[in-house]
Amino acid sequence: MKKKKIALFCYDGFAEYTISLALMYLKKNRDIITIALQKRDYLSCENQRLLVDASLNDCDPTDIDVLIIPGGNTESLLPCSRLSDYITTVIAAKGSVAGIGNGANLIVEMGFMDGRRCAENDTIFPRFPHPKTAYANTCFVNETVVIDGRFITAKAHAFVEFAETLKKTFGIREGLCDEYKTWMTPIAGWMKVTDSILVSQSTFEECNMTIIVSQNEAILIDTGYRQAEAQRVLDYMKEHHLMLKNIVITHHHEDHDANTALFSMNQGIVYDSTNCGDDTMIKVGKLTLRLFATPGHFSLGDISVLVIEENVLIAGDILYSCLPIQLCYGAKPVILRETIEKIAKAHYDWIIPGHGKIMTGDTITEMAISYIDTLNARIDDVVKKHGSEDDLYDIKLKDCVEHVDWMVEEPAIDLHRQNKLELFHTKLKSL
Ligand SMILES: [Zn+2]
Repeated sequence: MKKKKIALFCYDGFAEYTISLALMYLKKNRDIITIALQKRDYLSCENQRLLVDASLNDCDPTDIDVLIIPGGNTESLLPCSRLSDYITTVIAAKGSVAGIGNGANLIVEMGFMDGRRCAENDTIFPRFPHPKTAYANTCFVNETVVIDGRFITAKAHAFVEFAETLKKTFGIREGLCDEYKTWMTPIAGWMKVTDSILVSQSTFEECNMTIIVSQNEAILIDTGYRQAEAQRVLDYMKEHHLMLKNIVITHHHEDHDANTALFSMNQGIVYDSTNCGDDTMIKVGKLTLRLFATPGHFSLGDISVLVIEENVLIAGDILYSCLPIQLCYGAKPVILRETIEKIAKAHYDWIIPGHGKIMTGDTITEMAISYIDTLNARIDDVVKKHGSEDDLYDIKLKDCVEHVDWMVEEPAIDLHRQNKLELFHTKLKSL
């Protein structure tokens, strides 16, 4: 398959600071090309000169995975039918466009955000009308970064969040890219896994709330941590006239159950590990869900939910994709590994983990098992050689998990550190 590029669109007066962190992140795994209206030097608003790689004419828009438009003084670009035609072709070829600050406003001004949600920016030049009043068809929202379809927009000052979003969406290894994109059809903050399964991800360690929808009924799996997360689900259900039938809590950690009281049901039940046996079947519209115990993460019990007709599993925290699997803080590594092995054998089409993006059942379970096995083997070595805690330092996260680039860096490394200590001391005690 042809490798698609990441393109940075430059213009005189572009603000380097709005995109430099994003480029730092993306250059690790991806080819980046700088393009502009002409192939020449461009002067940034920081007074740096940049000679672009190609003009728009020399860079095929169908080869672009994401076109990044930095913030800055975009006055010289309006109107610019060459750029707007180029963006149209990028989008038609299933590429994306990401604008920050006035880069986002530019996309609005070109009409691409009509009927879409867009990050609200005040940094518009006085000779142009303010986008909020002039572009009534765009839904401006007070969020730092907004993904709507193939468009990503950000507030000018949110260059860190913008960079993080681009890194998560495009900064991944070639080959895994397609899998990632298949599942990710963002609908105003939602991810659609299938027509009846929607995931709302929070900014808190990418914690997932899932709703299963069929014939105007909905079942909510996990209720989130912050109130805003619950509100997003409530708004969605109201907008789509959905009746909340039941709630399922995969486990009682507060990032998964804190908002339960905010949801009201008409005689509905909250299912959790205390009231569902190993095979509880519940219906939502035409769909059947199987609730079953998947022990190993939380000492008081974990359950997962299988949407039978879709072959999709909502796993809870027994699986993560943005963090290594949790083997400490009360988790039972041996039981957890058995649970994950069972899940691996079922070959689910998709697994929605407790935290992180949705992956195929095979990929996420293989990633978890190989992490547990590699880490165990490395720690066995240390124990055999009568090593100390200091020797654990050499067991890096990247030695134990292949997809480390996807992980939320600091929390992932911290969890890996705790996992090592836990396994090491358990092994010492059992000697
Ligand atoms: Zn959690």
